[in-house]
Amino acid sequence: MPYESRLALGLVPYTAGEQPKDRKFIKLNTNENPYPPSPEVEKALRGKIETLRLYPDTDATELREAIAEHFSVSPEQVFCGNGSDEVLAFAFAAFFAGKDVFSPEISYSFYPVYASLFGANLIQIPMHSDFTVDVKGLMREGPVVLANPNAPTSLALAVEEIRMLAAHALEKEEILLVDEAYADFAKECAVPLLKEFDNLLIVRTFSKSHSLAGLRVGYALGSPRLIQALRCVRDSFNSYPTDRLAQAAAAASMRDWNYTRDQLQKVIRARDKSKERLRAAGIEVLESQTNFLFVHADPTDALWVQKALREKGILVRYFASEKLKPYLRVSIGTESEMEIVTDLLIELIQKK
Ligand code: PMP
Repeated sequence: MPYESRLALGLVPYTAGEQPKDRKFIKLNTNENPYPPSPEVEKALRGKIETLRLYPDTDATELREAIAEHFSVSPEQVFCGNGSDEVLAFAFAAFFAGKDVFSPEISYSFYPVYASLFGANLIQIPMHSDFTVDVKGLMREGPVVLANPNAPTSLALAVEEIRMLAAHALEKEEILLVDEAYADFAKECAVPLLKEFDNLLIVRTFSKSHSLAGLRVGYALGSPRLIQALRCVRDSFNSYPTDRLAQAAAAASMRDWNYTRDQLQKVIRARDKSKERLRAAGIEVLESQTNFLFVHADPTDALWVQKALREKGILVRYFASEKLKPYLRVSIGTESEMEIVTDLLIELIQKK
């Protein structure tokens, strides 16, 4: 008999983008924010070391209050976890385990992993040929999970389309889970829909817009009933998913939204400038509402472009699957980093 459980033997884990230590790269492969977090984060962490001998507040009350205030919802509508990946995992366990769950075919590649870990049957609905999500195709007899804006395509559905999905799900007494990891970089988000739909769960993160990927804080917004289900799963797994430092730092960042908004605008400006330059050079780039660009880098397989950029000290993300391999996902760095990578992309792709 193998030592490993049948569950462990059957898992195909998620592959994260590389975090190299050997040399300094312009790192545009994991959708991190190029700017530092709010200065309020450092202030909030001062003097906290001595408090670490005590367990943290399991319910992250102060942080939930800061998030609730930011979104004009009640703290009972907020759940916090160790990165949005963990919140998503809890949501799969709480709402999808043992069920069929529908998702767009191209989306965040952690969803199939959580589905297999928690015994959900993820049914992937084909996209339109331009990578847009087939909204009608997702209206089935079962819960739905999607990232909006989507990854790695960078495209977003309009809130009106999310409303249609939520209304259909409500009619079927099912959940709609919208992963808004990138929504702060988009034109609109689904949070206002929470007033209308008690079956809508929105998952968000401090990793991207708040420049706090290293802190590991994510959260969910939804009706108290959905939040209660997440707490139940959390307390069946780990009662303290967010530590004292993480709670204090994330709360301080949320309260300093003006700083975050300024950094977001820099990222959005650099994104749109790079997109326009690539398009002007005849390179197809999808209409991004995220902090990355999805760039058509080769007619058949962009692996060579990713490797050539790596040689020059720039990391971008390549996906080996049939439909994604002509493309590269390029996270948005500082303005000067974007100038370098945009020049190089144009040079490499045009030379071929
Ligand atoms: N959702 C999507 C769509 C993502 O791209 C990511 C980042 N890999 C996450 C969730 C997870 O982010 P984190 O765990 O850092 O909050």
